[in-house]
Amino acid sequence: MQRFIVFEGIDASGKETQAKLLSSFFTKKGFEVLLTHEPIYEEPIGKVIKSNLEKKISLSSETVAMLYAADRYEHYLKIKKALEENKIVISDRYKYSNMAYQGANGVDPKWIEEIEKFSLDPDIVFYIRVKPESTMKRRKEKDLYEENLEFQKKVFDIYEELSKKYKFIAIDGEKSIEEIHRDIINYF
Ligand code: ADP
Repeated sequence: MQRFIVFEGIDASGKETQAKLLSSFFTKKGFEVLLTHEPIYEEPIGKVIKSNLEKKISLSSETVAMLYAADRYEHYLKIKKALEENKIVISDRYKYSNMAYQGANGVDPKWIEEIEKFSLDPDIVFYIRVKPESTMKRRKEKDLYEENLEFQKKVFDIYEELSKKYKFIAIDGEKSIEEIHRDIINYF
């Protein structure tokens, strides 16, 4: 059984919604689940990332990519522990977000792959595939850092490439929340 599950996609594609539904699905079946997300803005490295997103400080995209990789490595250690405790881990975003977002900011994707190679690969990545235009109506406060449609389009294009390269399971995110959930649980 696949126990390390990741959700990826552009802002407001429905990752958090589907991660929560999948977590409840497994909990009801009696599994222990670690439902988690990235970046972790409350943690020391995440705080620096947040300051940069809020434009309180101004860091280069390469530095930001390294900060995301560092934040993730700390996160990965928690994920590893949960997997060793036989939990199912569901993460809203993982290293592919660094490739998509910092890639859209002009950082060489190969270099990002290199600095991300220390974190374990997930068993399965659900890529919630939604056109950037469709998500603009759905945006919430947490997404406001990346509000620009042109930027979201660049991120979307990189996700399309990553999806092929890393064999993501692409899920049609334009459907209703319930339909998408049904499509996802078909894989278990
Ligand atoms: P993400 O974690 O990818 O940013 P969320 O799960 O937080 O996305 O969803 C963003 C917003 O869009 C929320 O208000 C959520 O209720 C809504 N939403 C999620 N999935 C769908 C869907 N399939 N159709 C319409 N709205 C959705």
